[in-house]
Amino acid sequence: MKDRFGRNIDYIRFSITDRCNLRCRYCMPEGVKLEQHENMLTYEEFLRIADAAVQLGITRFKITGGEPLVRQGCADFIARLKAMPGVEQVTLTTNGILLAPLASRLAALRLDGVNISLDSNDPKDFTAITGFDEYVQVMQGLEASLAAGLKTKLNCVLLPGCEHRLLPLAQFAQNRPVDVRFIEVMPIGQGARSLGPDRDAVLRVLKERWPDLHPVEEIRGNGPAHYYAAAGLTGRIGLIDAVSHKFCEHCNRVRLTSTGLLKPCLCYGEGIDLRTLLRSDENNQEDLVDVLRQAIWSKPRAHCFDDVAAITEQKTMSEIGG
Ligand code: SAM
Ligand code: SF4
Repeated sequence: MKDRFGRNIDYIRFSITDRCNLRCRYCMPEGVKLEQHENMLTYEEFLRIADAAVQLGITRFKITGGEPLVRQGCADFIARLKAMPGVEQVTLTTNGILLAPLASRLAALRLDGVNISLDSNDPKDFTAITGFDEYVQVMQGLEASLAAGLKTKLNCVLLPGCEHRLLPLAQFAQNRPVDVRFIEVMPIGQGARSLGPDRDAVLRVLKERWPDLHPVEEIRGNGPAHYYAAAGLTGRIGLIDAVSHKFCEHCNRVRLTSTGLLKPCLCYGEGIDLRTLLRSDENNQEDLVDVLRQAIWSKPRAHCFDDVAAITEQKTMSEIGG
């Protein structure tokens, strides 16, 4: 459906858990308070919301977290979502650690894509960023995903001082059909203290290695990435610069936290509590569709990342799902 600013909202991100098997320092601080299990939506509840979303023209779903693969039954849930009439696309964002043993099952379910988050290709550096010595497992996840034929992308957050990591990460696109996307840190939660290089700085570094790197007009995902190609690269380089280059007029999405809070915009703490509605005695699917419709209609015009004082979101990215 269209929101009040005429934007077509056809994409929703489902954060299915706030748990994670890593502690990326910009996302999930040590000692972060975790939600009670009974406050998490069940898969049945997610599917009811998916059904309501489809009725409003939302056809594309991202499964995220926390780390979605730590929640038991994630692949079965994906299977049920894929089988729902009206669902056109289901993709997954994961840190890749638990991906290897699941990749062929996910491919058999015709999962439409996997984004693997990786901020450094150096195992020691990886451990320093994430708190865990699991680089090898992520590589196994990446290779298994490619071997299973899943459309695979790497997401790399542009942390302060990360310039030396850019080339080694971009090289994953050299001989593999992998898009490597560099993402500006958003000032949410711990991210507020982690602002790193912007698009121009990244392009400067990459062009030293691939001077013919040039922008291409290609739609390769649901997001606002600008893609670049070079003769020496099999995959594309993507840049997602939500902070320095606002793209709110093209925003196509809403987000659902694992506790059932529907977030019309990443920047603001406000959300619509779907869990209470789902668990009330007199709830029906029409009411759910109505509440979802109102929530989409209420989506703000733009984020406020350029005015940090106006950011009202207090949750960590691991609670929201990125
Ligand atoms: N655990 C999964 C993963 O790491 O892909 C899914 C959840 S994670 C919150 C989703 C994405 O959000 C990851 O790519 C992560 O790097 C990114 N992220 C976390 N905090 C961020 C921030 N402040 N700014 C930009 N991206 C962030
Ligand atoms: Fe976990 Fe993903 Fe956040 Fe890292 S970015 S702590 S893997 S949720």
